[in-house]
Amino acid sequence: MYDVIIIGGGPAGLNAAMLLGRSRRKVVVFDGGKPRNRWAASLNGFLTSDGMHPGEFLQRGKAELSKYGVEMKETEVSSATYSKGQFVVNDADENVYRSRKLLLATGLKDNLPELEGLEPLYGKSVHHCPYCDGWESRDKAIAVYGPKRKGIGQALAMKNWSNGVTLYTDGTNTLRRADLELLELNGVKVCTQKIQRLEGEEGMLQYIVLEGGEKRPQQALFFSLGTKQQSSLGEQLGCEFTSKGVIKTRKLQHSNIPGLFVAGDAARDMQMVVVAAAEGARAGVAINMELQREERKKVS
Ligand SMILES: Cc1cc2nc3c(=O)[nH]c(=O)nc-3n(C[C@H](O)[C@H](O)[C@H](O)COP(=O)(O)OP(=O)(O)OC[C@H]3O[C@@H](n4cnc5c(N)ncnc54)[C@H](O)[C@@H]3O)c2cc1C
Repeated sequence: MYDVIIIGGGPAGLNAAMLLGRSRRKVVVFDGGKPRNRWAASLNGFLTSDGMHPGEFLQRGKAELSKYGVEMKETEVSSATYSKGQFVVNDADENVYRSRKLLLATGLKDNLPELEGLEPLYGKSVHHCPYCDGWESRDKAIAVYGPKRKGIGQALAMKNWSNGVTLYTDGTNTLRRADLELLELNGVKVCTQKIQRLEGEEGMLQYIVLEGGEKRPQQALFFSLGTKQQSSLGEQLGCEFTSKGVIKTRKLQHSNIPGLFVAGDAARDMQMVVVAAAEGARAGVAINMELQREERKKVS
């Protein structure tokens, strides 16, 4: 019987494990090895780790945990249930583990544009988050991908980082007259033609090739097409979700299920490594405090 099972060994899960390990709790972390930013060339915007490779960040985290006796299992969890104050977790090899508390730190995955040539560029010159990668794209020729009216907000926002912003609606033509006026007024160009493919070298976008063959020089592409939960465990356990598909949490990362906490991208809040790590720390402390309250002898 573990005090805490943590599912997900990204920044949220690892930071929770650190606080719980330091609180002398018996903790196991399961991790399937698919952190959301695994395509990224660098992790930006985290004080003291700015520009570090995301893989190195996680390796350092795991090395720091080793002195606190936290168990690490590099495997997927296939199911989790809760009954009578106990969590039962099955891993991919059908081993069974039990715990008093459970933390889901299973992250999200991004809906990517379906564009030929995107994969080798993703995380290097194709991005979704300007706060993570806008600085590296500053003053470049930035394309924003957004069919229908989906890219308007991001195209306007990217003007913060470059004067050369073009919105590509990829063969859709539903921008309203007021949208076009707003974009023009703010210096955003618009291209409604269908995109055939992206071309680049060594991860760096060079051209957007339109149907018909026209090649438009572009050095970075941003998109914002939403996300999905990486794991269905939240649903299995009966968690409540927001309309955006993240798990509803209360002040200290509690979910609606007793003893079940959620931290990082899977939970409601800003989706960045430093925020995920902070939520993990908050969940770690909240879980330990809940265990302390349950263990304390009461004056009769
Ligand atoms: C391309 C890209 C670049 C980014 N760049 C930055 C950046 O520069 N700066 C920044 O702050 N943020 C960046 N982000 C956002 C950042 O990746 C996330 O905010 C952060 O990873 C969230 O941490 P997390 O611990 O919640 O989830 P994750 O890091 O996604 O970790 C979740 C872990 O849970 C595991 N898992 C899921 N389901 C199971 C299961 N059933 N069993 C076992 N394990 C499971 C996964 O395998 C994964 O390892 C970027 C995102 C992307 C996509």
